[in-house]
Amino acid sequence: MEVEIVLADGAGFCFGVKRALDLTAKTIREADPAKPIHTLGPLIHNPQVVAQLKAQGVEVMERPGDQSSGVVIVRSHGVAPKVMDELIGLNYDVVDATCPFVHRAMRWAKQLHDEGYQVIIVGDRDHPEVQAILGYTDETAHVVSTPQEIQKLPIASRVGIIAQTTQSVSNFKACVKVLDGMVEDLRAFDTICTATEQRQTSAWELAAQVDVMVVIGGRNSANTKRLADLCKEQGTATYHIETPEELQSQWFAGVKRTGVTAGASTPDWLIEGVLTRMSEITEGKVAETMEEKIQATEEQETAVEEVEEVEEVEEVVEAVEEAVEEAEEAVEEAGEVTEEALEEAPEEGISEDHMSEYDVKLPTAGAVIKGKVVQISNDEVLVDIDYKSEGRIPLNELSFISNANPEDIVSVGDEIVVKVLKVEDSEGNVLLSKKRADADQSWEKLENLFETGGTLTAKVMQVVKGGLLVNVGVRGFIPASHVSRGFEDNLQKYIGQELELKIIELDRTKNNVVFSHKEVLEEQYAAAKVEAFANLEEGQKVTGVVRRLTDFGAFVDIGDGVEGLLHVSEMAYSRVNHPSDVVAEGDEITVMILGVNQERERISLGLKQTIADPWSTVTERYEVGQKVTGEVTRVVDFGAFVKLEDGIEGLVHISELSHKHVAKAEEVVQSGQEVETKIISVDAQARRIGLSIKELEPKPATPPASAPSARNRQPQPNLTEGTDNAELTTNLGAMFGELFKDAKDE
Ligand code: SF4
Repeated sequence: MEVEIVLADGAGFCFGVKRALDLTAKTIREADPAKPIHTLGPLIHNPQVVAQLKAQGVEVMERPGDQSSGVVIVRSHGVAPKVMDELIGLNYDVVDATCPFVHRAMRWAKQLHDEGYQVIIVGDRDHPEVQAILGYTDETAHVVSTPQEIQKLPIASRVGIIAQTTQSVSNFKACVKVLDGMVEDLRAFDTICTATEQRQTSAWELAAQVDVMVVIGGRNSANTKRLADLCKEQGTATYHIETPEELQSQWFAGVKRTGVTAGASTPDWLIEGVLTRMSEITEGKVAETMEEKIQATEEQETAVEEVEEVEEVEEVVEAVEEAVEEAEEAVEEAGEVTEEALEEAPEEGISEDHMSEYDVKLPTAGAVIKGKVVQISNDEVLVDIDYKSEGRIPLNELSFISNANPEDIVSVGDEIVVKVLKVEDSEGNVLLSKKRADADQSWEKLENLFETGGTLTAKVMQVVKGGLLVNVGVRGFIPASHVSRGFEDNLQKYIGQELELKIIELDRTKNNVVFSHKEVLEEQYAAAKVEAFANLEEGQKVTGVVRRLTDFGAFVDIGDGVEGLLHVSEMAYSRVNHPSDVVAEGDEITVMILGVNQERERISLGLKQTIADPWSTVTERYEVGQKVTGEVTRVVDFGAFVKLEDGIEGLVHISELSHKHVAKAEEVVQSGQEVETKIISVDAQARRIGLSIKELEPKPATPPASAPSARNRQPQPNLTEGTDNAELTTNLGAMFGELFKDAKDE
């Protein structure tokens, strides 16, 4: 007898079981050898695997406290919170291998309970997973296994219903339907794991196409038992076995095709063993999957027998679709009732958001949905998308900025928009992308802005060759020449800065958008310049920032890039050697507008005009005959200037330096030297103070032979040289009158 053997899709380990086994293997490898390793209850419902683990030193512990210390692995079913607390309290090293799908069911159970809903769990009360979920409702939830059981319950006005992860979808939906009309406020969460759903559908479809079904898995495994029940419901002879040795040849007498499926806890090697043994018994050949079988059959439409098989398959698929449709309608109807109830009860504070929880459909690939960030790790961000398990954004799908710190982009609790890339990846998660959702949203906005010539603000993320990168939902580039109005040699300083930008190039097909900050600045400058020339008036005081220093002054930005010149001579009342003696680049200063030349676009500024003129009160502090000390600031041909205070300098004429003949002033004083002098004249109006050093020295008894007469004195200084000196011409009489008098007497 040659029998065709077909293996159902999804047979064997599910993601949660595989994860638990991987975590256990890792624990065996890495745990302290001195610490015994235990699983709390059998790790999976498969005695062969449990025996293998025991051979590796992993024992089963029935309840916390059975062992005094060591590592305890919590299996994929999870545990109630009080059990977890107990484990931690007993100082075990806990390895939590709870399946993420189960975690999700726990979280929803807790949320419903905390919000005051009566929780109903559709499942097997004695199953460890249900016991764990029950713990999250403080043991208050009702557990039912059929819709009929719901009818016997005392039903509250607010009910939340969830399912054990391995429940059949149709049973859960039928339970939801029963609550239709009975409950004022109903919330339903489809917590059935998709691995279970797929395995059950596949087994159910296969059972309809074969003469015999063999279901492999532990006899105490709920999901394996449910697989066997589903196959039997198709009227197909079904055998539930744990090992290849249990196969019996008489099961396959007169059989043309047989199907094989396996529960979530059945390892591949056991499935392989069963398939091999079946081939030996039946001389059969194994078709890899049911899908491949259907495909092969369709390709051979001329074979009558195979055509019949195809028709059978189509009927089965149709029946499944009808059943699913019916169940979905039931949920929709229940949803409608609840929506009405919600509309009627706004005073209870129920938000419309709750209605979306009725959507028990899977997210579809390509959909753009909202989610809440629940966890950020080094390699991914987990997002609650109201699905059975969190959606996962790998770091390379978070942002287009490479090496960006995820916490700079999102924070826990943020509501974000994401794009579904794949409904389930190999680890059972929904794969999401934030950067693609951002990109979709952003391109539309960018295209609008480009058309209208508008601007946007974006944060600089990175310096790259030739410019800067900004995050605008897509990657934007600012060429270095468009960063500022002038040449910019330090681009690093822009990182983290928000810049207002204008789009200068956009090509969505090439994923290319180029921005200019310079164009925004130029526009601002042009507008500010017009405003400045229209509004600035001489004598007005304005605040500005020193942008550049030159030998002759400083350019001061008095707003939006409009610059005026602060000439060195307008910086202080005393002489300033260099502008850097008074101001530095970046200083914020108050200046007075001294002149505005609109034609030449020049603005002249003054700094000294903003402070009181020390000469206006000079006579209050200085008088003829007074001794004063000061620092020599300059030594010139005709004498030396001595600083008495900020803005006040006096002149010691060369003839007043000494009683002796002085050919050059440097012979007596040097710049920087502190000297004691006597005031010989004060002229506030002319802004002059005459000083003498010689008057403080004893006068020689007889004039030295070489002392020059007034006629032989050095030529008088060119007193018209420079602003300071020009004013001296009005004071010669006052300062040097005595000398003139001497000459006249002679
Ligand atoms: S919830 Fe699903 S994936 Fe998780 S352990 Fe159970 S059957 Fe496996």
